[in-house]
Amino acid sequence: MPQIIDGKAISAQIKDELKERVAALKQEGISLCLAVIQVGNDPASSVYVGNKKKACAYIGIESLSYELEENTTQEELLNLIKELNKRQDINGILVQLPLPGHIDEDLVIRTIDPSKDVDGFHPQSVGTLCIGQKGFVSCTPAGIIQLLKRSGIEIAGKECVVIGRSNIVGKPMALLLLRENGTVTVAHSKTANLKEVAKRADILVVAVGKPKMITREYVKEGAVVIDVGIHRNENNKLCGDVDYDDVAPICSAITPVPGGVGPMTIAMLMNNCVESAALNR
Ligand code: NAD
Repeated sequence: MPQIIDGKAISAQIKDELKERVAALKQEGISLCLAVIQVGNDPASSVYVGNKKKACAYIGIESLSYELEENTTQEELLNLIKELNKRQDINGILVQLPLPGHIDEDLVIRTIDPSKDVDGFHPQSVGTLCIGQKGFVSCTPAGIIQLLKRSGIEIAGKECVVIGRSNIVGKPMALLLLRENGTVTVAHSKTANLKEVAKRADILVVAVGKPKMITREYVKEGAVVIDVGIHRNENNKLCGDVDYDDVAPICSAITPVPGGVGPMTIAMLMNNCVESAALNR
């Protein structure tokens, strides 16, 4: 049977480490505060925002909540971000996505001061990742690197295939695997012979957003499979982009859904908040 990569346990470990770092920063007189902005009341976004605030409370980071009406104008939102950018007591600013259609998401992301961009979505953060300099890294791919490292899985020299090229998962994932000296291929919706390409992977990261699309026909025997997808199936149960029951018996390690990649995203957001305080002191 494969090694089941336990994202719940690893994220709990990271949060406990961060709690200690926050306590040490507080001893030095440095306190941490994350501003969380939600526009409208999409139920899924409210759950994510609630979980982020809970994680802050656990670690010892103060969180300020801005719950704005669905019809908030773009200008009002940008003005709030500019005000938060100036505030010395706030280390991180997070705007929960997606935003209502009348607001330009890219403009909102670009308005956040890069030194407070704890989601790692600002073009400057993406640029520093690309050229290997210090900066915030998108939380889900950063979490996947931690899952691999803390599970004793070597990346250097491995064939890594990332399926998906989104700005928040696929592309930063590929850059991080490259930074760790993997040999990286990015596959996407226009890739020819996807099965053959995927089968080259020693480490296969799947972020396609299609429930159970990846069966064992895409997976080399003994590969490590990381499933980023989150979906609800017909019985309202969570499942990933990988057909877990089909793939698990042939791989060496795999992340389950739930309990794999998902819990890591918030842990890495917390890590970015702590880093922002440590970096900006
Ligand atoms: P996205 O829709 O922005 O991107 C999907 C990518 O998959 C695209 O680049 C596209 O080219 C590629 N793709 C689509 N169909 C394909 C096909 N048939 N063959 C090959 N490639 C194909 O999605 P995303 O934001 O990157 O998210 C991917 C999945 O991960 C979703 O299920 C999402 O819910 C989940 N997600 C989970 C977390 C987490 O914390 N666990 C975080 C972000 C996203």
